[in-house]
Amino acid sequence: SKETILSRHREAAAEVVPDHTQMYIGGEWQAAASGETFDTLDPTTGEVLASVARGGAEDVDRAVEAAWEAFDEEWADTTESERQAVLLEIADRVEEHAEELAKLETLDNGKTLMEARIDMGSTAEQFRYFAGAIEIDRGQTESGDGYHGQVIKEPYGVVGQIIPWNFPLTMASWKLAPALAAGNCSVIKPAEQTPLSLLRLMEIVGDVVPDGVVNVVTGYGEEAGEPISTHEDVRKIAFTGSTTVGKQIMRNAADTVTDVTLELGGKSPIVVHEDADPHEAVETIAFAIFANTGECCEAGSRLFVHEDVADAVLEGLQGAAEGMTVGDPLDEETDLGPKVSREQVERTMEYLESAKEGGAEFLAGGDAPDDEALEDGCFVAPTLVEGLDHDHEAVQEEIFGPVLEVFRWEDYDEMIELANDVDYGLAGGVITNDIEKADRTARDIEAGYIWVNTWHEMSPGLPYGGYKQSGIGREMSVDTLDHYTQTKSIKYGLD
Ligand code: NAD
Repeated sequence: SKETILSRHREAAAEVVPDHTQMYIGGEWQAAASGETFDTLDPTTGEVLASVARGGAEDVDRAVEAAWEAFDEEWADTTESERQAVLLEIADRVEEHAEELAKLETLDNGKTLMEARIDMGSTAEQFRYFAGAIEIDRGQTESGDGYHGQVIKEPYGVVGQIIPWNFPLTMASWKLAPALAAGNCSVIKPAEQTPLSLLRLMEIVGDVVPDGVVNVVTGYGEEAGEPISTHEDVRKIAFTGSTTVGKQIMRNAADTVTDVTLELGGKSPIVVHEDADPHEAVETIAFAIFANTGECCEAGSRLFVHEDVADAVLEGLQGAAEGMTVGDPLDEETDLGPKVSREQVERTMEYLESAKEGGAEFLAGGDAPDDEALEDGCFVAPTLVEGLDHDHEAVQEEIFGPVLEVFRWEDYDEMIELANDVDYGLAGGVITNDIEKADRTARDIEAGYIWVNTWHEMSPGLPYGGYKQSGIGREMSVDTLDHYTQTKSIKYGLD
């Protein structure tokens, strides 16, 4: 019931919401220069979890200054093994506090506790991976007649990092781990919807990370994010979020010729071939679209299913969607939690409305779940849509919710043309037991990450990032260190 959910959430909040909700700058907890705060809400109950400092340009200035001071006085002189020790200790502490951090993430974001636990595992893994990656020697030397040449990789100094709300702490780790490994200091801004887990992380690791090496500025995008992206002393910007804001960040960076890496939206196709086992296909597809309530940039959100297996797959998917337990994300039985905010629910509903007008048939969902206990929360039922033209806005644009659009196909070339007919190119997938089909489709999809008979699985070492308007650069791999360093050649004349 509503009361049970409310009391469970209040109890959890009393236990895990951090004491410090100011900004973390130069190793100190600081209020915004304006003195203002904003509320972060629990999307399951609609209640306020905490009031957080509402940062602005002046706070960003302070953070950038603190970061340069830390870089010049300490961090630039650290050895690889010293930085490695810091990253490994962060990983250990994330693991020690995993259950508490997961609960906090569930309260602030709405993802299920099961999903949040997985996030904490991958957060620790990022720090550990980059602790190892530091040791890979990426410099080189070259000697010739009368000279000796050397190529070295130097950190930028201070980098700006802006992260989204769908995987709050994990996205912070994707940014912080390579930046610190490469020897940079960071000014990082969590999303205004979900600032708490990163603040709690800084409480947990504050004594391990030297003051000023990581500075957390909380606040809204235009007030606290934009000043990071336009700051003259920020030498590199890394952003994950919407394509619209990504483009703006790239424009801003042009003024100071600052390097950017962008991880933006997606509208990823799932291709099911005629030989696929419908039962296995349904499991993979449901996971591809409904995991994390569809709030994954790499979600499989357009399904291209071969006519021969379409009826069986769609019937199975309908059963899967209707059989999901939508509800309290703190409840271990729940499959699908709320979306992150009321605004995001409205956005999704607008797309569903527009789909209806476009002649869509809803095979499942299409609205909020019919459950009184959930009426204060930001819930959307798992939704399957068929019958839309591929150029409809609900197909072309990222909905970022538990909404799958279905298309049947018989002609492979026509299908691939449609699968690639979006501005995005983040991910894609193919479901088949035929290795030749798997290989052909994996190559034919224009995207940076392809899954065969699985989805969402990522491991450090396999670079992650988008084609087309899904982004620039790759995360999660040794390549990422190149995004956080600049290359210097030194030539010695020996004559
Ligand atoms: P957003 O791009 O506005 O927010 C992402 C981050 O950027 C947040 O930290 C935000 O505060 C910051 N930001 C916003 N405006 C900024 C600006 N002008 N300058 C600097 N920073 C700024 O995303 P959103 O509005 O929260 O969500 C909108 C849509 O974006 C979603 O519905 C979804 O389609 C997409 N999205 C994608 C991802 C992803 O992982 N690719 C993540 C979140 C959202």
